[in-house]
Amino acid sequence: MNIEPLVQRIGREIFAHARRAAPGVLEQGWWQQRGLEWTMRHEHLKARLFEFIGSLPGQPNAAAVARSLRDHLCSNGDDLPWPLRLAVDFDDEHSWHARLSAWAATMAAHRMARQFIVGSTPHEALATVGGMRRYGRCATLDILGEDVSNDTIAEGFCRRYLDLIEALSAVAPTWRYDALLDDAPFGLLPRSNVSVKLSALSPNFSPHRRPIDVMLVRERLRRIVRAARDGGGFINVDMEHFVLRDATLAVFEAIFSEPEFRDWPHAGIVIQAYLRDSRGDLDRVLAWVRRRGTPITVRLVKGAYWDYETAAAERESRESPVWAEKWESDAQFEALTRVMLENSAWVRPAFGSHNIRSIAVALACEQALALPPRTVELQMLYGMGDPLKDAVVAMKQRLRVYCPMGAWVPGVAYLVRRLLENTANESFLRQGFAEGISEAVLLQPPQRLAKPAADRRE
Ligand SMILES: Cc1cc2nc3c(=O)[nH]c(=O)nc-3n(C[C@H](O)[C@H](O)[C@H](O)COP(=O)(O)OP(=O)(O)OC[C@H]3O[C@@H](n4cnc5c(N)ncnc54)[C@H](O)[C@@H]3O)c2cc1C
Repeated sequence: MNIEPLVQRIGREIFAHARRAAPGVLEQGWWQQRGLEWTMRHEHLKARLFEFIGSLPGQPNAAAVARSLRDHLCSNGDDLPWPLRLAVDFDDEHSWHARLSAWAATMAAHRMARQFIVGSTPHEALATVGGMRRYGRCATLDILGEDVSNDTIAEGFCRRYLDLIEALSAVAPTWRYDALLDDAPFGLLPRSNVSVKLSALSPNFSPHRRPIDVMLVRERLRRIVRAARDGGGFINVDMEHFVLRDATLAVFEAIFSEPEFRDWPHAGIVIQAYLRDSRGDLDRVLAWVRRRGTPITVRLVKGAYWDYETAAAERESRESPVWAEKWESDAQFEALTRVMLENSAWVRPAFGSHNIRSIAVALACEQALALPPRTVELQMLYGMGDPLKDAVVAMKQRLRVYCPMGAWVPGVAYLVRRLLENTANESFLRQGFAEGISEAVLLQPPQRLAKPAADRRE
């Protein structure tokens, strides 16, 4: 089955809608776009700017912020634009000038973080998520939290997930029914949808975990899943670093094999296509779900930790678990897309991507296999690629927005990850919307970008 002509047609349609939806010059999005474009043209400065932003939560006062700003921006004669040059042109970090610069930098970082974070409390988050439905977008909510250093913090996370689910269960039924968002070919979808990271549920869910740590994670996940089921919700278990992959799959399978949850279909897991053996992961999940007898949702992504996995493998002199070249992750994403859609009776297919080619392949496979419209669910991140969101909504696709909520400190770490992702050389968003690479190139099959074997050996 050659779906390529269909992929091209759908891809061009998405591009056409997205270009119409691109923000105008007076909107916040336009200025942010220009700012990001500027940092992308100054790679060395970009790294230091993002490092400065990442350091902000640890700064004790305005003088320390000012000092850090100057240290990060003022080395070896960079060609700074005049507002930044002016900001760091002070001698005394306690002066009003330095304080003003520190305040402006902190405000700018807060503002950027708010672009990617849906709120700091369930109340704020639910107001935003409820409002998004008017624009044809449903949501999955996640609680940000990077540093779970002891069991009290982990228990606190579990509590916050439970509070969030309780708040969602109370509010979600009051949202107006919308067939595009609430109905799928396989039935009504829960409006309350929460994504959970297992590493938040124990300080020791790590490569060195003991059976007791895994039991604790299972116990907390069980409480969360029970609350979601009783409140008519959905729980997705996110995928994190490679060293947690097997344990995450094992905990997921164990919980959803328990008699209490065995028949419950509102559970989801993530497969990362950048892993060389991700086909094995998908086959494992498919085999398990058939034994279980009740379908689940699978969110296919490429994977958020490519730099980390590559560097860790290099450091430890072992083979990297992730593909070495971007086109390989893209090609694997397309291959797994097809397998998921061929098995959509068992794995309800969701695709987390801002890459128009990857999205077009999912929609083309759905059509080519004569599956009912909206078998596919598209998922994108809050605050990223908004013209793309408008485009797929205009095409009457179901779009779920991944909405992190949380406070400033974990928010900054998340902000820096998103900034790095948006501005990475090989990012589709960068190539498609900042560098003006042609649609024909961006839509070509990933295999066309494979270098000949001889080049690769160099
Ligand atoms: C709704 C949603 C939920 C998500 N949930 C998760 C999750 O649970 N776990 C998780 O890990 N990620 C998750 N992600 C993040 C996702 O993995 C990244 O956003 C995604 O990788 C970016 O891919 P893209 O298709 O949008 O963009 P593209 O620009 O097409 O792809 C970028 C990706 O390609 C891969 N890549 C980059 N360079 C190379 C290289 N040299 N060689 C090989 N591969 C390379 C990396 O995975 C990189 O992130 C989620 C994303 C979304 C939208």
